Formats: sequence, C-alpha cells, structure tokens
Amino acid sequence: MLRQYQELKQQHPGTLLFFRLGDFYELFFDDAVIGSRELQITLTARHKERDPVPMCGVPHHSAANYIARLVRKGYRVAICEQTEEAGKTKKLVRREVVRIVTPGTPIDPQLLESRESVYLAAVCSSGETIGAAFLDISTGEFRATQETGRDAWARIRADLESYAPKELLFPVSLAPLVKTGLSGKIQTALFGSAGGPPASLDQNQAPTAGEPPALPVIESQLPPGSSNDLGLGATLTPLEDWKWQKEDCQGLLLEQFKVRSLEGYGLVRKDEAIRAAGACLKYAQETQRAAAAHVTDLVYFEPQDHLILDSVTVRNLELVESLAGGSGRSLLQVIDQTVTGMGGRLLRAWLLRPCIRRGEVEARLAAVGDLVATQLTRDKLRTLLKGVSDLERLAGRISLGSATPRDLVALSRSLDQVPAIRELLAPLPSTLLQVLVENTDELPDIRALVARAISDDPPLKLSDGDVIREGYSVELDELRSVSRNAKQIIATLEATERTRSGISNLRIRFNGVFGYYIEVSKANSARVPAEYERRQTLANAERFTTAELRDWEKKVLGAEERIIQLETELFTAVCRQVAAETKRIQTTARALAALDALSSAAETSARQRYARPLMHDSDELEIVQGRHPVIEAFSEQRFVPNSVYLNNSTDRLLIITGPNMGGKSTVLRQTAIICILAQMGCFVPAERARLPLLDRVWTRVGASDDLARGRSTFMVEMTETAAILHSATPRSLVLLDEIGRGTATFDGLSIAWAVAEYLHDSADHAAKTLFATHYHELTELAERLPGAQNYQITATEREGEVVFLHRLERGRASKSYGIEVARLAGLPPPVLANAREVLARLERYELDVFAEEDEALGTTEPKAAALAAGISESTPESTTSPANDDVLAVAARRAGRKRAAAQSSLFDLANERVVSELRSTDPDKLSPDEAKALLKKLRERSL
Ligand code: ADP
Repeated sequence: MLRQYQELKQQHPGTLLFFRLGDFYELFFDDAVIGSRELQITLTARHKERDPVPMCGVPHHSAANYIARLVRKGYRVAICEQTEEAGKTKKLVRREVVRIVTPGTPIDPQLLESRESVYLAAVCSSGETIGAAFLDISTGEFRATQETGRDAWARIRADLESYAPKELLFPVSLAPLVKTGLSGKIQTALFGSAGGPPASLDQNQAPTAGEPPALPVIESQLPPGSSNDLGLGATLTPLEDWKWQKEDCQGLLLEQFKVRSLEGYGLVRKDEAIRAAGACLKYAQETQRAAAAHVTDLVYFEPQDHLILDSVTVRNLELVESLAGGSGRSLLQVIDQTVTGMGGRLLRAWLLRPCIRRGEVEARLAAVGDLVATQLTRDKLRTLLKGVSDLERLAGRISLGSATPRDLVALSRSLDQVPAIRELLAPLPSTLLQVLVENTDELPDIRALVARAISDDPPLKLSDGDVIREGYSVELDELRSVSRNAKQIIATLEATERTRSGISNLRIRFNGVFGYYIEVSKANSARVPAEYERRQTLANAERFTTAELRDWEKKVLGAEERIIQLETELFTAVCRQVAAETKRIQTTARALAALDALSSAAETSARQRYARPLMHDSDELEIVQGRHPVIEAFSEQRFVPNSVYLNNSTDRLLIITGPNMGGKSTVLRQTAIICILAQMGCFVPAERARLPLLDRVWTRVGASDDLARGRSTFMVEMTETAAILHSATPRSLVLLDEIGRGTATFDGLSIAWAVAEYLHDSADHAAKTLFATHYHELTELAERLPGAQNYQITATEREGEVVFLHRLERGRASKSYGIEVARLAGLPPPVLANAREVLARLERYELDVFAEEDEALGTTEPKAAALAAGISESTPESTTSPANDDVLAVAARRAGRKRAAAQSSLFDLANERVVSELRSTDPDKLSPDEAKALLKKLRERSL
C-alpha cells in the first residue's frame, strides 16, 4: 500500500496527498508532519516497531473542512479515493487522485466567499513581452493580457494586484525572472530601460546556502506569506516549461471554444497572452479532472481599458477593506446594496477596475438614473433579484460535475424570476437596461426539464434518494413500487407475527448493519416461535430473523440499491443536458448580476443623497460640496462638505496645510473616491460634480509601515513616490499626504519640495495633484509656481481650545495647532507647557531674523504698506489683483524675505550646532591638520 502511495505521490509533486483508507484520509511522511502542524491533529506512526512512517488522518465525512483550511493557508491538496469497492478482491484496492484542490482553483462553497472572485493567474514571458491570464474556475470568467517594453513588468504587476490571484503559475525556467520582475523591490526591473529586468539580476536570485532549495517541489509546499510569495499573497506554482508551448496552448483554446481562430477574441499575434491563457486553462482542467466546459469565453484586455488603481491606492483609500482591519469600514461596505453574490462580485470588480471610456460610464449612469427615479420599480427589482441564486457558480458546478440536486432546483427557481424582471424593466428608457433585459433568457427548456425530473424539495445528497420526481422514469417508478410493496408487506408481517406468537410488543425494525430483524423483549423470549433464528442478544431484548423476512428484505434492499444507482444516472444525465446550455445560463447570470449592481448603485444614491456627476472630455475637475462617503455614513458628527477645483493649468497642484486631525487626508481621499465612484458609473456624494475621465489614481498616504513586506517606512514611501513620478500622466490624479515624513526633517522637506515641483513642472507627468503637508514651508511653492494653489483646512480657537472646522479654504494655514492636538491626545501638562515655551522661542527667533533682515536691507515699511494695499499674509494669490507696481515690488521682496526667513529659522537651528562646536574649541590648541579636519567637518554639517 505504501508503494501505491509513493507512486501517487510522485505523480503529484507539490501537493499534500489525502490518501483514502476506509473511512479516513491519511497523510504520510512529510505531508503528515505538515498536516499535523497546520491542522493541529495528532501525529502518529505506521510500522511503529520497524521503520516508523509518520502519519496522521482525518475522517472522510469532515475532510472538506480540513482541506479548506489547508488550501486557505496556501497548500495544494490531492484527493485520492478508492476507485473500486474494498473487499470484493483480495488484492490492494485501486486508488486514484480524483481532484486536486489548490488555492487558485476552488469550487467548493467552503472555500469561496460569495462576494469575492477567486482567480488563478498565469504569467509567462519571451524576453520583451510578458503575458498574463486570469481564470475564476468557479464561474468560468477568463481574461488575458500582454505587455511589451518599458514598464511591462510594472503593468503586469499592477494587473496582478488588481485581480489578487490566490495562485500564480509560471514556467519553471522563468522563476528568477518572474520573481525579479514582479517583486516590486528592484527599481531597475520595474523601470528599466527596455523590456524585462536585465539578465544579470538573475544571479541575485540564485539560491544560496540556507535558503529554500530550488523549485519546484519544496517551494511549492510553502504557503503564501513566506518569503517567496512576492507580496501578492498568492501561492507560487511553477509548471514545467513544455506546458507553455504556444502551439499546444493555442490548440487547447481553439478546442475549448470550438473555433478555428482566436481572432474573434482579440488574440491575433498575442503569443504570450495565448501561452498564459493556455497554461492556466490546462492547469484548471488537470486539477478538476474535468474539461471545464463552462469556460466559454476569453476576454483580452489592456491596461488602458480601465482606471488603474494599484494595491497601495486600494488600501489607502480603504476601497474594499479598512486600514484598521476587520472591524473598520470600507467604501464597498457603504455602497454595496447588492442582493446576490454575483452582483456583489461584479460591483467589487467595478470598484477595483472602474471604466475609462466615457460612453461606458454614461451608459451606466443613465441606467442608475432610471433606477433612482423610479423607487417602486427599483424595490420590486431588488425583491425579485433576492430570489436569484448564484447562477454563475451554479453553472460552474453543474458543468464540473459537482452539482447537488438542490443546485438544480436553485437554478430553476432563479430562472423563474426572469419573466417578471423583464416585464418590470420594459418601460425604462436606459439603453443599457434594455440591452441587459434583452440578454436575460428564461431558459424555458431548462426550467421544464428540472420541473419534470427533479422533485420539489430534494435532499442534499444524491444517496439520500427521492431526488428524481415520480413519473420521470418508468423503470425508477417500478423499482420504487417494488420497494414500497415489499416494505408494506414487511409492515403487515409485524401484525401477523404478533398474533401468531402472542407477543404483543414484537416489532420489526431495520438498521444498516443487520437489515430487517424481529425484536422481542427479554421478558417474552420464552414465547418466541421455534423457527425464529437468533441474530443478536441485547441487554433487555433479543433480535431474530425468519426465512420469509429475509426474502422480503432482499427485495427491498435490491430495489433500493438499484434506485440509488438509477437516480444517480438520471441526475447526471439531467446535469449534462443543463450543462449543454451553460452559455445561455452564463449570459443570463451576467445580465442579472449587472442589474443587481446597477440597482445597488441606485439604492445607495437614493439613500445617501448622491448626485449624478457630469462627465466631460476637458481637464477640469470640479466637486461642489463633496463628502467622504464612509466618514459621512459612519460618523456621529455632521460631515462638513468641501469643494475642490483642479485643472491642468492654473490649479494643477493644490498644497493643503492645516492642523493635524483637521481633515486634510479626508479631503484628499474623498476627491479620489468621488472620481472613482463616478467612473464605476455610480452617483457621487456631492452637491454636483464635473469630472474628467482619469486614467489612474495614485496615492502616497501617511508614513505607514510595511513590516509585513520587510521594507522600511521610508523605503516604501520613496518606492511609491518614484512609481508616481515615473508613470503619472496629465490624466492622472495624485494624492500625496505627508510625504517625506519618514526621514529627517530636512531630507523630508527637500524631497517633498522637489516632488511637488517635479509633478508641477514635468511635461509628461504633470498630473493633477493634491498635496497635504505639515511642512508649512511648502506653501511658498504656490507663490512660485503658476499652477499651484494654497489651500488650508481651517480651525479656530475658542476659550483656549482648538476647534476643527474641517473647512477647506483658499490660503495657507497660519498655525498648526500641533500642541493643542497633543493636549487633546492627553500629553501631560508639563510636557505641553515646555512645548509651548519652545514654540514661543522659535517664533521669537523667526521674528528676530525678520527684524535683522529688514534692518540690513534698510526697509522697515513693508508690512504696513502691503497691508494697506490689501495684501494680507495669508492670501498670497491676491498679489495679482492690485495693479500697483510699487506695492507688487514691495510684496515680492517681502515674500522673498519671508521665504528666506522661514527657511533660515529652520536651517539656523541646525547651524547652531556648528556654532556651539566652534565655541567649544580652542584654536590655540589645534594643530594645522586638526584645524583643517575640523573645518571640513563643520563645512559638511552646515546648511
Ligand atoms: P488630517 O489629515 O488633517 O490629520 P484627517 O483627514 O485624518 O485629518 O481627519 C481627522 C478626522 O476628522 C477624521 O477621521 C474625521 O473623523 C474628521 N473629519 C475630517 N474631515 C471632516 C469633515 N469634512 N467633516 C466632519 N468630520 C471630518
């Protein structure tokens, strides 16, 4: 038996082999060690005396949960069953692997979240070009793409982040390349001059002593989260190179879609996409041991097909989950009012990959508009959709041969809703709604078949019987009547035997071990007729059988065995007939999912008073009285709406200052969220909005640590910033929140300054940028750069306490209220008092520098003059209004000095250290060499 085990194990490298032994699945050797550790089950041994083999096992009836736990941790599990009945032959029973469950190919409900798609991904490359494919085997959704040239790896990585596959396939020989390319750590790989990463990088990836040994077997045993998952959370599965041959892959796809050419799929000369898709499909088929006929389509896409949101942005904007983790709120939670799992998945996909084409957005907005306007229709539609099950996954299970009888009933009941939905939506004008209605198919043939064949309330399992309806099969009906008659006769036998024997409590019973038997209590055993044969003696009863009872029993059991067999055959045949119509079911399912997502958008808009955004092709982005949808929905305080205006000329860089906790981040995020919602086709939380179609939203928010990925805060910050500077376009929206915070003040300030200036000035990368910062020095930028504007989040003091107004206004903050915020946070009074003193000293210092400068320049009048001319300190942009050259000249001079002062106040603090060091040296005691060294050192330190 262990030899049989070893053979199967060898055929399935990289999996944990669940080896069926009677009522248990057993794991042996290394698998047993892993299994007992991960599942917390006892590790025992076979052949304890001789050569002990580590082993552990789980009962077959609860195996699904154990398998799910392992797969969720990133393992692959090969399920090996006995494929002939034990006991019939003396020989070893035949065993086969019937299915491999991997993280990327789950179909069991235990392994699926109803509202999340699970993708299997494949990546391959031929040097210049990289292909990728994504397959959700539970629904048959299948996509592929390919990229060439500069940034190709970065774009593929962005796709991977967006689809977040649970498992990633790649050719074994490409392991180092794929890892370097996708690691996101090596800038040259991401932004190298051409194509993929330089070949020399491969050497960095060569395994060194102490590192996990080479691919594929050992590494494939490592769950994600180990150092090898590239930060994608995917199990890495290398596949032999021959599985990626273009001709084979193309042949497989042609066969799958039953076509002669892949032209209709947009795959002409897309060799890498074809290879990735082929390998992906093949792997899915192999793990399922099925043709996966429900994979009926392959969609070729390119990055410019949707608004790109990388994982950093998705996280920072808390689109699908909160930064705080489980309990926190996400945007999806606020806007997801869908009533079906497939609608939920679609809405999530819309959120992660919003549209980029205006026509598509407008079509959705019009549909949502129709549904917002007609509450009654919307309510009815949602009620009808509640009666629709997850048709996409039902179709998947039916075609993969793992559907239950209840799945067929659920399919039919779901289709029952379609006529009413069609009728309900007929009067609505939106073209998209009409197209979707057109796409729904009541599938009367399928409904009729299921109604005829399957009983109304079938059991969960086929083996429980009564699955096939009376009247569907003559043979089945006959068998059932034989079984019923025999049972009836056995029942009458009980009465006859009672009379005959005079034992009033004689009973005829049934159990799985002994079949039918006659039970007589001990007290009556003396009266038992002579021909009764004793079968079993219990504490207070005895069990018997008779020749007559055995005869009838044989009839019942024979019929029942045949009934189960026949029901299984009939059920499988019905499933096959339904599976033949998979494409129609899928089209209907996708249309219903879209209707669900659209009505969810309408429901949210109506409940939360969202407005329809106006999409346009010019560059202006104007949000009037916008709100943050999540804070608004969950905060107890009234949300203060704010307006934002951006364009690509005069207002392309907004520098936003204001106190901590004032609401800077909130304004940044709500601006991006409103744009994203609009491009999903949803209404937006604002009074009104006029929006351009963005190609990408970039964020660099906060100085969050990325310990999980083992990178320092500052490194993360700079990596992300570099990506933005390399790839942002004038159609992008960039949010920079407190960048430069991860390092020393001067570095940070300088970097923040340079980044802002670059984004403003660069011809190719001048994106619309919102820049929130606590570096007040940066407000100077707005005075220097024509496209930059200063904004501040207002706060005020009332009775010595800071009051956040959360209002965004033009101008720059005059005060940061940091100490007040610290007080709110509970810093002890002595610390606060000390901080206030230091602050006062610093402010005095700044004033002194001013006075000194004024004196030096011989100008003491500017403040008064500027004020008289209406130039207030906090609104520098108004310097353009008064047409008085003298005043302007004065103001410009003053602004220059103020800038110098702001900087020198900071810089001089550092230089103070240099001065104090100078004071502490005695020049008389220095040798010429020492003096020279000191001079050098001080020169380096000074600013
Ligand atoms: P900052 O980035 O300036 O430190 P945040 O944007 O993080 O401040 O805002 C801090 C808190 O203030 C938020 O969590 C929210 O509860 C509240 N807040 C922010 N903006 C508003 C607003 N416009 N209306 C109401 N509350 C707000």
